[in-house]
Amino acid sequence: MNPTSSATTPLYSRRNFLGRTSQWSAMMAAYQFLPLPKLAESLAGDARVSQTPIADKGFASVRKVGDGLYATISDTSKGFQTLCNGGFLVGKDAALLIEGFVSATGAGFQYDTLRTLSKGPIMGALDTHYHYDHTMGNAFYGANGISLWAHAGVGKRILESYGVMQGADKAAFFAPLEARAKNAKTEAARKHATELVGAVGNIFNVANSTILALPNRPLDPAKLPIKLDLGGLTAVVETHPGHSGTDLIVRVPEQNVVYTGDLLFNNLYPVAFDEQATVSGWRSTLKTFLSYDKDTIFVPGHGQIGGREAVQLFVDLFDDVAGQAEKMYKSGVPAEDAADQYVVPDKFKGVSIFAWNLSIGPTITKLYKEWGAK
Ligand SMILES: [Zn+2]
Repeated sequence: MNPTSSATTPLYSRRNFLGRTSQWSAMMAAYQFLPLPKLAESLAGDARVSQTPIADKGFASVRKVGDGLYATISDTSKGFQTLCNGGFLVGKDAALLIEGFVSATGAGFQYDTLRTLSKGPIMGALDTHYHYDHTMGNAFYGANGISLWAHAGVGKRILESYGVMQGADKAAFFAPLEARAKNAKTEAARKHATELVGAVGNIFNVANSTILALPNRPLDPAKLPIKLDLGGLTAVVETHPGHSGTDLIVRVPEQNVVYTGDLLFNNLYPVAFDEQATVSGWRSTLKTFLSYDKDTIFVPGHGQIGGREAVQLFVDLFDDVAGQAEKMYKSGVPAEDAADQYVVPDKFKGVSIFAWNLSIGPTITKLYKEWGAK
């Protein structure tokens, strides 16, 4: 079940838990080296997309991507206040905010930008999933009387994942991670494990400096999709498998715009460490994305906004990892070794990796499990 820690440790042991949760933090460390790329040529000529952002704080900027549709895009080379992407929809009757970001400052930037365009009612703020970089700023919305919407599993997973870090013993928290790096059998494994050790303090610190705010409008996945009528603008909220087991997307079919959360990254390897991540489910979700109108604009969870070529690249990344993993599986390489042995091909050298043990490693171990490995 658990993709990232040793197959020999029980799922719910403390060591296992810490090994898993710590890996989220690696994102923050890696992000700062990724300046935001320019808009793709196809979108630079798209009349729906404002070529200049309507607001820019450095760490994030807001761009119009449709009629009443806005994308908040992070540039982590300039700051960590948002970390993930988001956006908002403004109809005649109401607005909908997307993502709580990693901090109240980030959520506040998005809210303030919305308020420069509309003083009208806000239906809610929707977290696309529970991960910290999408939810730790939720308290800003709560403090402003904005209801918080999310997949019904989100509240519990925020508490299980981040609530337990609050007040936890830091040395005990780090010990298993350091041991994992120390006991690594190969140089690659040590490098990947050390990468996590170096980054783990970030998530711990974020969790310990955040007042957690849980969604008060849980959406039962069995009752999705739902349509939200914002007044001349209809958004559809859907759930799809892949990244976290709590993933929602917001689609505006009439304008061919989709806010995907982390089910899509643009120009980054997939992050599949979550215990509820499913590679086969995720690849099937990407097929669904490719079935949308060819002019669809995707607002990904991380990276620049893109068209279907961004989805195709993500599919190709999964295919390449799966292809190499399958060769290793068939030649008898154990999962825990294979996880460190993927080779980034030249054609993907420009594709970023948040942290190996968050992304490529767990994608391989998950694939092994899908193929029936122990
Ligand atoms: Zn995520």
